[in-house]
Amino acid sequence: MTDSPRPLGFDTLAVHAGTAPDPATGARQVPIYQTTAYVFKDADHAARLFNLEEVGYIYSRLTNPTVSALAARVAALEGGVGAICCSSGHAAQIMALFPLMGPGRNLVASSRLYGGTITQFSQTIKRFGWSAKFVDTDDLKAVEAAIDDNTRAIFCESIANPGGYVTDIAALAKIADRKGLPLIVDNTTATPWLCRPIELGATLVVHSATKYLTGNGTVTGGVLVDSGKFNWSASDRFPSLAAPEPAYHGLNFHAALGPMAFTFHSIAVGLRDLGMTMNPQGAHYTLMGIETLGLRMERHVQNAQKVAEWLEKDPRIESVSYAGLKSSPYHDRARRVMPKGAGALFTCAVKGGYEACVKLVNELQLFSHVANLGDTRSLIIHSASTTHRQLTPEQLIASGAAPNVVRLSIGIEDADDLIADLDQALAKATA
Ligand SMILES: *Cc1c(COP(=O)(O)O)cnc(C)c1O
Repeated sequence: MTDSPRPLGFDTLAVHAGTAPDPATGARQVPIYQTTAYVFKDADHAARLFNLEEVGYIYSRLTNPTVSALAARVAALEGGVGAICCSSGHAAQIMALFPLMGPGRNLVASSRLYGGTITQFSQTIKRFGWSAKFVDTDDLKAVEAAIDDNTRAIFCESIANPGGYVTDIAALAKIADRKGLPLIVDNTTATPWLCRPIELGATLVVHSATKYLTGNGTVTGGVLVDSGKFNWSASDRFPSLAAPEPAYHGLNFHAALGPMAFTFHSIAVGLRDLGMTMNPQGAHYTLMGIETLGLRMERHVQNAQKVAEWLEKDPRIESVSYAGLKSSPYHDRARRVMPKGAGALFTCAVKGGYEACVKLVNELQLFSHVANLGDTRSLIIHSASTTHRQLTPEQLIASGAAPNVVRLSIGIEDADDLIADLDQALAKATA
């Protein structure tokens, strides 16, 4: 992409950012660099690369040209200075926390999160000596009260999956700023087309590229975007970034690399030692997917609005939890946080409870019953019996996955066909 005299729009960046015709061959599409290693020009070149004095390719666990093209594209779309592609969304979350945390440290996390993230934060990170304190992020006083001397980050989702809850990112960013903490936003369900967390004050943005970024259910991947705006040296709380890092021959990343400190640390230490690397094939599919992100999201949102409005009027439905509806307590906030629409993921409560939900899921023909979201195809899942079945009853209710609730991820098909499919399946489920 050549330097532009004016800032380029989102859809232009989605097609062009991070990519130029291949310098070796002129190939217009980004080639899949299916290689593990890269030949050094000479011993001196190799030494400069390892010292981070020159940026280049060493080994594909660290960087790869196809993967780097995707990182640059997502960084541009989110308005960050750099990004790291990871093997999954969950890997991106661990990679986001890794330079910040240590034994005895905690993060303050929203109680409304993707079910897998609640499990990752409430159980698995304990093995590293890390912990999470879950709070209702609508209660700003509770957020502030949960922060202690060992807190190293605040974590939330822009649109919380599955309850259709929209987070007041700017309000959380203010608290994070005041407390000298980075705010991490999982922007998977909104995508940068709907919501730009960095503009609202987020420090880091994480994505499951598995979802809308790739958009067609072919890739498991994640991306971590760094705003480059956080001052890691303002306190002594982030020694990996702002003091000599023993894992990288004593380099002080913030002193040496300024706003790129987090990005470089994530590559030079995080990917090097944790190995949660995205593969070039996965990066290729995700690059292709992102080319149409804006077009798809526009249709996803239009369809979700139509289907949600139809369901809300249907007597077989108890309620619909979608911030695009006037009945939602998050309707006004959604217009502020994501003015182009409230996403395409929502839940609805079915009269007839657990049994009717199970039948509905079985009777649908166009909707697929899968544990995924953000596909071109419409998807449905009964969270209580699947993705969220590890959660306690209290966690189920808090995360919007009660037993009578199904979650819909509305695709880009013809909305009338989706409505007809729901109509016939609801008739059988509630007969
Ligand atoms: C799917 C998802 C994740 C986890 O991503 P994977 O790619 O499945 O590891 C994290 N957060 C949200 C909001 C998700 O939807």
